[in-house]
Amino acid sequence: MATVTLEDLTKEYGTLTAVNDLNLEIKDGELLCLLGPSGCGKSTTLRMLGGLETPTGGEVHIGGERATETPPYERDTSMVFQSWALFPSKTVLANVAFGPKMAGVAEGERTERARRVLEVVEMSDFAEQRPPALSGGQKQRVALARSLAVGPEVLLLDEPLSNLDKRLREQMQLELRSIHEEVQTTFVHVTHDQNEAFTLADRIAVLNDGRLEQVGTPREVYSDPHNLFVEEFLGDTNLLGARVEDCGPEGTVAECEFGSRIELPAGNGRLSAGEELTVSFRPEVLDVRQAAADGAVPTRTGDGEGEQSERVDREGSREDGAGSVLHGTITDVLYRGASVRYYVSLPDGELFFERKVGEGTGLEAGEDVQVNWDPTDLLVFAEGERVRGDDR
Ligand code: ADP
Ligand code: MG
Repeated sequence: MATVTLEDLTKEYGTLTAVNDLNLEIKDGELLCLLGPSGCGKSTTLRMLGGLETPTGGEVHIGGERATETPPYERDTSMVFQSWALFPSKTVLANVAFGPKMAGVAEGERTERARRVLEVVEMSDFAEQRPPALSGGQKQRVALARSLAVGPEVLLLDEPLSNLDKRLREQMQLELRSIHEEVQTTFVHVTHDQNEAFTLADRIAVLNDGRLEQVGTPREVYSDPHNLFVEEFLGDTNLLGARVEDCGPEGTVAECEFGSRIELPAGNGRLSAGEELTVSFRPEVLDVRQAAADGAVPTRTGDGEGEQSERVDREGSREDGAGSVLHGTITDVLYRGASVRYYVSLPDGELFFERKVGEGTGLEAGEDVQVNWDPTDLLVFAEGERVRGDDR
């Protein structure tokens, strides 16, 4: 295990800045995911950690020692690649023992070490097979075992699961987690897949265009995105434009793209009328139910019911759509594996929401619905940065 510190780390290729002033501390023994879209600088960052690229600026420290220019074979790092790169003519055991062999470990010991890591990745039964006889998932395990066999302080994984089909990939994610717990090595895992990062990571570092946008536990990053990029990248959500009408210490009232005035839990008097915002209505926070035949406003269940109706009354008549109740029609119902997504058309826009299969809203396409939410569940962004109630 070792701490890895990136300090102002930068890599320029001619005029292109692939990694831009990255500052990040990776903790001893943690599994950190570098997450971001293709081309955002994940592999370049990882290669600088492994010594396969030299930074054009900044420093890399591994285990408290400066390693910025240390060649790969002198670092306590080991890399697992997306392409598995196993020797096809060597046995699985020989493939795994290869790293220790190059490091000058005696035959008896390196064979024993190879057998031990094959056990960790549950491939002991295949020790005498050769790679062409293995499935994709099995090759991936061997590649992982080969990197683990050198006993690195830091294991660097560059999208190692992206060649696997979905089911195997999800299984390997769980296994990678348990292997990480067993070997207690610092893992830096690169992926462009949010779900993979959420499954695996102790912490996620979100990269965009060579820069670090946010770092935190999966829960922190999801529940408290610092900017619109993170919010958009982490999952499907409804992002709608809104324009500030009024902003006071109690909150903000804005005219939303779908044609209604809404309350926002943000600004605290620091937004000015006319300012443009982006509001995220996450699919899981929308409360959607069948429109009552008599046109009555639905009441929310649970706490705050009284407060809610008071607010709707204060803000204007329900008939003209003020407050946080909207009327719409279900246009599409899509089954997406474990969840169902519903699209609701509104007078001037559209929203979608999701429920787990079996939670059964009983709603069908063509039905009239009322959409309701708790304003404090909305996330608000101005110029791409998050606006909260108590800061700006
Ligand atoms: P990611 O792994 O996040 O997809 P990369 O780190 O591979 O992204 O690449 C980041 C950017 O740097 C991309 O624009 C890529 O084209 C560029 N890049 C990467 N390697 C080189 C190279 N050797 N020469 C020139 N440009 C490169
Ligand atoms: Mg890459």
